[in-house]
Amino acid sequence: MIQINNIGKWYGNFQVLDGCTTRVRKGEVVVVCGPSGSGKSTLIKTVNALEPIQQGDIVIDGIAISDRKTRLPRLRAQVGMVFQHFELFPHLNVTENLTLAQVKVLGRDTGEARERGLRMLDRVGLLAHKDKFPGQLSGGQQQRVAIARALAMDPIVMLFDEPTSALDPEMVGEVLDVMVQLADEGMTMMCVTHEMGFAKRVSDRVIFMDQGKIVEDCPTTDFFGESEARSPRAKEFLSKIL
Ligand code: ADP
Ligand code: MG
Repeated sequence: MIQINNIGKWYGNFQVLDGCTTRVRKGEVVVVCGPSGSGKSTLIKTVNALEPIQQGDIVIDGIAISDRKTRLPRLRAQVGMVFQHFELFPHLNVTENLTLAQVKVLGRDTGEARERGLRMLDRVGLLAHKDKFPGQLSGGQQQRVAIARALAMDPIVMLFDEPTSALDPEMVGEVLDVMVQLADEGMTMMCVTHEMGFAKRVSDRVIFMDQGKIVEDCPTTDFFGESEARSPRAKEFLSKIL
Protein backbone atom coordinates (compact mmCIF):
# COMPACT_ATOMS: atom_id res chain seq x y z
CA MET A 1 0.00 0.00 0.00
CA ILE A 2 2.88 2.36 0.81
CA GLN A 3 6.30 2.03 -0.79
CA ILE A 4 9.03 4.32 0.44
CA ASN A 5 12.04 3.89 -1.80
CA ASN A 6 15.40 5.23 -0.71
CA ILE A 7 14.12 8.70 0.11
CA GLY A 8 16.34 11.60 1.07
CA LYS A 9 15.35 15.00 2.33
CA TRP A 10 17.37 18.05 3.27
CA TYR A 11 16.59 21.28 5.06
CA GLY A 12 19.31 23.43 3.54
CA ASN A 13 22.53 21.53 4.27
CA PHE A 14 20.96 19.45 7.02
CA GLN A 15 19.95 15.97 5.90
CA VAL A 16 16.79 15.08 7.79
CA LEU A 17 15.99 11.80 5.97
CA ASP A 18 18.78 9.59 4.74
CA GLY A 19 18.09 6.64 2.43
CA CYS A 20 14.84 5.56 4.07
CA THR A 21 13.25 2.50 2.50
CA THR A 22 10.24 0.54 3.74
CA ARG A 23 6.93 -0.98 2.70
CA VAL A 24 3.60 -1.00 4.42
CA ARG A 25 1.25 -3.71 3.19
CA LYS A 26 -2.52 -3.44 3.08
CA GLY A 27 -3.98 -3.97 6.54
CA GLU A 28 -0.61 -3.70 8.23
CA VAL A 29 -0.04 -1.56 11.33
CA VAL A 30 3.47 -0.14 11.52
CA VAL A 31 4.73 1.83 14.51
CA VAL A 32 7.51 4.35 13.97
CA CYS A 33 9.57 5.26 17.01
CA GLY A 34 12.92 6.78 17.82
CA PRO A 35 14.52 9.68 19.65
CA SER A 36 13.26 13.24 19.31
CA GLY A 37 14.64 14.85 16.16
CA SER A 38 15.30 11.54 14.41
CA GLY A 39 12.98 12.41 11.50
CA LYS A 40 9.79 10.54 12.39
CA SER A 41 7.41 13.44 11.75
CA THR A 42 9.21 14.36 8.57
CA LEU A 43 8.97 10.79 7.29
CA ILE A 44 5.24 10.65 7.99
CA LYS A 45 4.67 14.01 6.33
CA THR A 46 6.49 12.96 3.18
CA VAL A 47 4.05 10.06 2.84
CA ASN A 48 1.23 12.57 2.76
CA ALA A 49 3.20 14.80 0.36
CA LEU A 50 3.12 17.55 2.97
CA GLU A 51 6.91 17.68 2.76
CA PRO A 52 8.71 17.34 -0.57
CA ILE A 53 11.62 14.94 -0.91
CA GLN A 54 14.77 15.50 -2.93
CA GLN A 55 15.72 11.87 -3.48
CA GLY A 56 13.92 8.58 -3.99
CA ASP A 57 10.19 8.11 -4.41
CA ILE A 58 7.01 7.22 -2.59
CA VAL A 59 4.22 5.20 -4.11
CA ILE A 60 0.81 4.97 -2.50
CA ASP A 61 -1.53 2.29 -3.76
CA GLY A 62 0.30 2.34 -7.07
CA ILE A 63 0.37 6.12 -7.43
CA ALA A 64 3.75 7.88 -7.30
CA ILE A 65 3.68 11.11 -5.32
CA SER A 66 6.36 12.61 -7.54
CA ASP A 67 4.43 11.94 -10.73
CA ARG A 68 3.38 15.32 -12.04
CA LYS A 69 0.06 13.88 -13.13
CA THR A 70 -0.77 12.90 -9.54
CA ARG A 71 -3.39 15.19 -8.05
CA LEU A 72 -1.99 15.82 -4.60
CA PRO A 73 -5.16 17.10 -2.89
CA ARG A 74 -6.94 13.95 -3.98
CA LEU A 75 -4.05 11.76 -2.85
CA ARG A 76 -3.89 13.54 0.50
CA ALA A 77 -7.58 12.91 0.96
CA GLN A 78 -6.92 9.18 0.62
CA VAL A 79 -4.12 9.32 3.16
CA GLY A 80 -5.70 10.32 6.46
CA MET A 81 -3.43 12.19 8.83
CA VAL A 82 -3.81 12.84 12.54
CA PHE A 83 -1.29 15.12 14.24
CA GLN A 84 -0.13 15.61 17.79
CA HIS A 85 -2.13 18.82 18.04
CA PHE A 86 -5.67 18.30 17.02
CA GLU A 87 -5.81 20.94 14.32
CA LEU A 88 -9.56 21.20 14.26
CA PHE A 89 -10.92 24.48 12.93
CA PRO A 90 -11.74 26.36 16.16
CA HIS A 91 -14.41 28.54 14.57
CA LEU A 92 -16.35 25.60 13.13
CA ASN A 93 -18.49 23.24 15.15
CA VAL A 94 -17.80 19.51 15.19
CA THR A 95 -20.20 18.71 12.35
CA GLU A 96 -18.77 21.49 10.18
CA ASN A 97 -15.25 20.26 10.93
CA LEU A 98 -16.26 16.79 9.77
CA THR A 99 -17.94 18.06 6.62
CA LEU A 100 -15.72 20.78 5.17
CA ALA A 101 -12.99 18.75 3.44
CA GLN A 102 -15.47 16.19 2.12
CA VAL A 103 -17.28 19.00 0.31
CA LYS A 104 -14.22 21.00 -0.76
CA VAL A 105 -11.89 18.18 -1.74
CA LEU A 106 -14.15 15.27 -2.64
CA GLY A 107 -17.00 17.37 -4.01
CA ARG A 108 -19.64 15.62 -1.92
CA ASP A 109 -22.88 17.43 -1.41
CA THR A 110 -23.42 18.82 2.07
CA GLY A 111 -26.11 16.35 3.07
CA GLU A 112 -24.06 13.34 2.10
CA ALA A 113 -20.93 14.74 3.76
CA ARG A 114 -22.87 15.47 6.93
CA GLU A 115 -24.30 11.98 7.06
CA ARG A 116 -20.91 10.38 6.50
CA GLY A 117 -19.27 12.70 9.07
CA LEU A 118 -21.85 11.93 11.73
CA ARG A 119 -21.50 8.22 11.10
CA MET A 120 -17.76 8.51 11.79
CA LEU A 121 -18.45 10.67 14.84
CA ASP A 122 -20.69 7.92 16.15
CA ARG A 123 -17.91 5.42 15.51
CA VAL A 124 -15.56 7.33 17.82
CA GLY A 125 -18.35 7.61 20.40
CA LEU A 126 -19.00 11.35 20.18
CA LEU A 127 -22.25 11.76 18.31
CA ALA A 128 -23.76 13.61 21.27
CA HIS A 129 -21.19 16.37 20.78
CA LYS A 130 -21.92 17.11 17.14
CA ASP A 131 -22.98 20.73 17.71
CA LYS A 132 -20.16 21.74 20.04
CA PHE A 133 -17.09 23.76 19.14
CA PRO A 134 -13.61 22.26 19.57
CA GLY A 135 -12.92 24.52 22.56
CA GLN A 136 -15.82 22.91 24.41
CA LEU A 137 -14.29 19.44 24.13
CA SER A 138 -11.48 17.79 26.07
CA GLY A 139 -8.19 17.10 24.32
CA GLY A 140 -9.02 13.42 24.00
CA GLN A 141 -12.40 14.22 22.49
CA GLN A 142 -10.86 16.69 20.05
CA GLN A 143 -8.39 14.06 18.94
CA ARG A 144 -11.20 11.56 18.41
CA VAL A 145 -13.02 14.15 16.29
CA ALA A 146 -9.81 14.63 14.29
CA ILE A 147 -9.71 10.87 13.68
CA ALA A 148 -13.38 10.86 12.66
CA ARG A 149 -12.72 13.76 10.30
CA ALA A 150 -9.91 11.85 8.62
CA LEU A 151 -12.06 8.68 8.39
CA ALA A 152 -14.90 10.62 6.76
CA MET A 153 -12.64 11.05 3.72
CA ASP A 154 -12.60 7.26 3.19
CA PRO A 155 -8.82 6.98 3.50
CA ILE A 156 -7.00 3.91 2.29
CA VAL A 157 -4.23 4.57 4.81
CA MET A 158 -4.13 6.39 8.15
CA LEU A 159 -1.02 8.20 9.37
CA PHE A 160 -0.67 9.23 13.00
CA ASP A 161 2.02 11.52 14.38
CA GLU A 162 2.17 11.15 18.17
CA PRO A 163 -1.60 11.47 18.49
CA THR A 164 -1.57 11.01 22.26
CA SER A 165 1.58 12.82 23.33
CA ALA A 166 -0.11 16.19 23.90
CA LEU A 167 -2.91 14.66 25.96
CA ASP A 168 -3.38 14.48 29.69
CA PRO A 169 -2.65 10.90 30.77
CA GLU A 170 -6.26 10.06 31.57
CA MET A 171 -7.23 10.79 27.95
CA VAL A 172 -4.61 8.69 26.24
CA GLY A 173 -6.61 5.49 26.57
CA GLU A 174 -9.72 6.73 24.80
CA VAL A 175 -7.70 7.76 21.74
CA LEU A 176 -5.68 4.54 21.70
CA ASP A 177 -8.95 2.59 21.95
CA VAL A 178 -10.16 4.21 18.74
CA MET A 179 -6.85 3.38 17.06
CA VAL A 180 -6.99 -0.23 18.24
CA GLN A 181 -10.51 -0.51 16.87
CA LEU A 182 -9.35 0.86 13.52
CA ALA A 183 -6.49 -1.61 13.41
CA ASP A 184 -8.86 -4.47 14.24
CA GLU A 185 -11.07 -3.41 11.36
CA GLY A 186 -8.12 -3.84 9.01
CA MET A 187 -7.09 -0.24 8.40
CA THR A 188 -3.58 0.20 7.05
CA MET A 189 -1.80 2.39 9.58
CA MET A 190 1.54 4.06 10.09
CA CYS A 191 1.79 5.48 13.61
CA VAL A 192 4.53 7.55 15.17
CA THR A 193 4.08 6.84 18.84
CA HIS A 194 5.96 6.17 22.02
CA GLU A 195 3.06 4.15 23.41
CA MET A 196 4.94 0.89 23.51
CA GLY A 197 1.96 -0.95 25.01
CA PHE A 198 0.00 -0.05 21.88
CA ALA A 199 2.96 -1.00 19.67
CA LYS A 200 3.28 -4.42 21.32
CA ARG A 201 -0.41 -5.18 21.31
CA VAL A 202 -1.46 -3.83 17.94
CA SER A 203 1.41 -3.32 15.52
CA ASP A 204 2.73 -5.85 13.05
CA ARG A 205 6.05 -4.12 12.59
CA VAL A 206 8.19 -1.53 14.29
CA ILE A 207 10.43 0.95 12.52
CA PHE A 208 13.10 2.56 14.68
CA MET A 209 14.66 5.76 13.39
CA ASP A 210 17.85 7.52 14.42
CA GLN A 211 19.44 10.56 12.80
CA GLY A 212 17.27 10.42 9.71
CA LYS A 213 17.88 6.74 9.05
CA ILE A 214 15.66 3.70 9.47
CA VAL A 215 17.87 1.70 11.81
CA GLU A 216 15.42 -1.12 12.53
CA ASP A 217 12.46 -2.37 10.55
CA CYS A 218 11.28 -5.66 11.93
CA PRO A 219 8.29 -7.66 13.19
CA THR A 220 7.03 -6.32 16.50
CA THR A 221 7.84 -9.54 18.35
CA ASP A 222 11.46 -9.26 17.21
CA PHE A 223 11.69 -5.60 18.18
CA PHE A 224 10.61 -6.28 21.74
CA GLY A 225 12.34 -9.63 21.94
CA GLU A 226 15.87 -10.26 23.05
CA SER A 227 17.13 -11.06 19.57
CA GLU A 228 20.63 -9.98 18.73
CA ALA A 229 19.36 -8.27 15.60
CA ARG A 230 18.22 -5.25 17.56
CA SER A 231 20.63 -2.36 17.23
CA PRO A 232 22.38 -0.86 20.26
CA ARG A 233 20.59 2.46 19.63
CA ALA A 234 17.19 0.77 19.68
CA LYS A 235 18.09 -1.09 22.86
CA GLU A 236 19.18 2.12 24.52
CA PHE A 237 15.99 3.88 23.39
CA LEU A 238 13.80 1.08 24.75
CA SER A 239 15.65 0.95 28.04
CA LYS A 240 14.83 4.64 28.51
CA ILE A 241 11.14 4.49 27.73
CA LEU A 242 10.02 1.06 28.92
P1 ADP B 1 10.98 13.78 15.13
O1 ADP B 1 9.57 13.81 14.70
O2 ADP B 1 11.60 12.43 15.09
O3 ADP B 1 11.18 14.42 16.49
P2 ADP B 1 11.36 15.69 13.00
O4 ADP B 1 11.02 14.96 11.75
O5 ADP B 1 10.36 16.63 13.53
O6 ADP B 1 11.84 14.65 14.10
O7 ADP B 1 12.68 16.51 12.77
C1 ADP B 1 13.89 15.92 12.35
C2 ADP B 1 14.97 16.97 12.28
O8 ADP B 1 14.67 17.91 11.26
C3 ADP B 1 15.16 17.74 13.57
O9 ADP B 1 16.53 17.93 13.76
C4 ADP B 1 14.46 19.04 13.29
O10 ADP B 1 15.06 20.08 14.02
C5 ADP B 1 14.66 19.22 11.80
N1 ADP B 1 13.57 19.95 11.17
C6 ADP B 1 12.26 19.60 11.20
N2 ADP B 1 11.52 20.48 10.50
C7 ADP B 1 12.37 21.40 10.02
C8 ADP B 1 12.23 22.58 9.19
N3 ADP B 1 11.03 22.95 8.73
N4 ADP B 1 13.35 23.28 8.90
C9 ADP B 1 14.56 22.89 9.35
N5 ADP B 1 14.77 21.79 10.12
C10 ADP B 1 13.70 21.06 10.45
MG1 MG C 1 7.84 14.44 15.65
